[in-house]
Amino acid sequence: MASNLTERLSRLVKTMRGQSRITESNVQDMLREVRMALLEADVALPVVRDFIARVKEKSLGAEVVSSLTPGQVLVSIVQKELAATMGEGIADIDLAVQPPAIILMAGLQGAGKTTTTAKLAKHLIEKRKKKVLTVSADVYRPAAIEQLKTVTAQAGAEWFPSTPDQKPRDIALAAIDFAKKHYFDVLLFDTAGRLAIDEVLMAEIKELHALLKPVETLFVVDAMQGQDAVNTAKAFKDALPLTGVVLTKLDGDSRGGAALSVRQITGVPIKFAGVSEKIDGLEVFDAERHAGRVLG
Ligand code: GDP
Repeated sequence: MASNLTERLSRLVKTMRGQSRITESNVQDMLREVRMALLEADVALPVVRDFIARVKEKSLGAEVVSSLTPGQVLVSIVQKELAATMGEGIADIDLAVQPPAIILMAGLQGAGKTTTTAKLAKHLIEKRKKKVLTVSADVYRPAAIEQLKTVTAQAGAEWFPSTPDQKPRDIALAAIDFAKKHYFDVLLFDTAGRLAIDEVLMAEIKELHALLKPVETLFVVDAMQGQDAVNTAKAFKDALPLTGVVLTKLDGDSRGGAALSVRQITGVPIKFAGVSEKIDGLEVFDAERHAGRVLG
């Protein structure tokens, strides 16, 4: 961010020194700075508007306690609202079902689904001590199936073969059957993505969801999409009962605004962040820390 929000606000705080109460013009000045900083962080405009409206409502009614200056009160309102929007702490993957726990990976092509599937396999093997099977239903791109095979081997997980002549639902049934027979704890189900939102694709993934009854449905989205991530997030949220988000390519995005937009639009926690192309480049997403990053 050119001038981060913390800097912007601390400049304002200085101008409010010596004041005993928050004036309407203080609030307007502060909201202008917050709006600019969020837009610079590439947060989507409707998300910025909602955020500003909530901060405004809280600020106008805020009491100034004697230990804080009006400026400090306003800064703390912004910080709290940002943290609340981003979510709290860490949201783990839910595996509390009769095995295999099925995790459905959804998102556009290129978002990082296949890479993330393998990264997640590695995470679940190492951190949760699970026996993990992966499978791809991307019957439109044989290369994607091969890619999953390669990265699954790197993760130390097992890969279930599928071929382009199969129907996604048949792949799903066969993979579940195999996972049950071989006592896998987790089945990671990678799906086809398109370059843009596509009705046929959405219908297919909805059908797969109904069949698989996954414990987790993760929406994988590229952080570098910035505010464009909003439209994708809306489409996937409308099609599927998402349980979490994986924000990929955070390493290439210094602004961090997509997290705020996607969190607000989907209403589900961001569970993981992709931070490199490598198989170990996955971090459990810490919402509060990321709120601090957007704040600068
Ligand atoms: P899919 O089409 O959704 O399955 O996407 P892929 O898994 O094939 O990923 C698309 C590209 O993004 C590949 O070149 C990946 O190496 C890259 N990628 C995925 N996740 C990350 C990440 O967290 N950081 C970086 N830098 N690259 C990533």
